[in-house]
Amino acid sequence: MTENNEQTSFDDLTNFTLSKELITRLDEDFCRASGVVLLGSSPQEVSDIVSLGMIDLSDDQAVFEVERIVSRKIRRVQLNMFELEAALGFGFGDESADEGSVMTLDVGKGRLALAHDNEIEFTPDQSTAKMVCDALSQAVRLRASDIHIEVYASDIDLRFRIDGILAQQSTPFSKANIKKVCSYLRVLSDLDITERKAAQDGRISTVYADQSGDVRQIDMRICVLPGPHGPDVVLRILDEDRINISLDKLGLDDASYKTLKEIIKQPGGLVIVAGPTASGKTTTLYSAMREINSDANKILTVEDPIEYEIPKVNQKQVSMHMSFADYSRAFMRQNPDMLMIGEVRDEETASAALRAAQMGHLVFTTLHARDVPSALARLLVLCSDRSLAVSGLAGILSQRLVRRICPKCVEPYEPDPEMLARIASLPEDISHVRGKGCSACNNTGYKGQTGVFELLKFNGQLRSIVLRGDAIDLESVSGFRPMLGDAVEKLRAGVTTIEEILRTVPLPDWA
Ligand SMILES: [Zn+2]
Repeated sequence: MTENNEQTSFDDLTNFTLSKELITRLDEDFCRASGVVLLGSSPQEVSDIVSLGMIDLSDDQAVFEVERIVSRKIRRVQLNMFELEAALGFGFGDESADEGSVMTLDVGKGRLALAHDNEIEFTPDQSTAKMVCDALSQAVRLRASDIHIEVYASDIDLRFRIDGILAQQSTPFSKANIKKVCSYLRVLSDLDITERKAAQDGRISTVYADQSGDVRQIDMRICVLPGPHGPDVVLRILDEDRINISLDKLGLDDASYKTLKEIIKQPGGLVIVAGPTASGKTTTLYSAMREINSDANKILTVEDPIEYEIPKVNQKQVSMHMSFADYSRAFMRQNPDMLMIGEVRDEETASAALRAAQMGHLVFTTLHARDVPSALARLLVLCSDRSLAVSGLAGILSQRLVRRICPKCVEPYEPDPEMLARIASLPEDISHVRGKGCSACNNTGYKGQTGVFELLKFNGQLRSIVLRGDAIDLESVSGFRPMLGDAVEKLRAGVTTIEEILRTVPLPDWA
């Protein structure tokens, strides 16, 4: 580093003025790839020194390149990923259309503080703590549900799952510092830092302050798995804001919403929510529970594990000593109004759940099944007593999550005809739209997710058909619309794209 390339730590400065005009003198792709952004106002004199915010202060190549472009000496300034993103978002985003506009980059906003409270004597060096804090903050800010840190022979990958899709992130984690990073994460989550061979699970409590200054607690579940080149770490971000969704905001159309409310307002019955992993089943169950949660109702849940605590709901966690089936049976002596059994995996649990339903309790559960017909078939396999199965069953909801088109950059487009041809029943009069990609959606064109559903309410007629052992002809069931029908309506409404539907929604044979 030359004398002119003096370093400045953010600790020395409270804020920088940002200039759109100056930031855009560098190419956006270059800035993102190198993790750099120009700070301050445009230089006037040839002798002015320009500040360059950097993730990696040792990147001489980037400094050399920037010096060449701006024809000024560069002063290196350490930025974290959040600060880099904030500055780039201002410079290249559409919010500040005026070339001459300026803003101030405030330091220390949109950050996590780790609620670190244990007795292990451990003094991480500041840079490790800061790196971890930055990565977690960035994940929360980008609305990620999971953080994946993967260690390979020659490098480290940091990926965030955002709206169900993994996205590569730039990271200061490297082979040189990953051991310290993992040890620090282990300490934060109360895991044994000397353990190197077994998988470990733990939990980290954090306090997140967003850009507007709102503060909320966010817990993270951590899983550390040993690998040939070092531990792989996955953090699940348990952000209650993400699961605190009322039943009418899940994406159900008016008719299905009305039917689902009718089902859960019944005095008893089993309600199954079906779908693969990460199809939003848990969110739906929690929304339904919140809908009927009141002083007049006693709600018991058994979960594996409990991810979110709901006030006034009695939640239990599956353990070595108590299985889903054990809890399901024990619950009956607790006189509940509603039960939530995280998952039905075996005959014992299925029978206990159905018996509770038959006795007048409302019982919610989930099943790994493709759609409503396969969930029903699965239930009949798990519960050999057909009359118990049909008398207890109130309804089956099957669902998927599709990403929503970003409202900030939506534009009309013509999808690939081959893609359109994959849904033979697709109406031709749909005006297709997509997100072009902008700073609000991290250039993905999508922001947030919504559910697509199919819902079957069980009635006397259906019960007798199943009891006879006949197959249900769903097309003739009034009010039933297959999931693809719901998805096509969301396509027509400009909520999502055909790509998303083909990625997530199972296509029935007739489609
Ligand atoms: Zn966008």
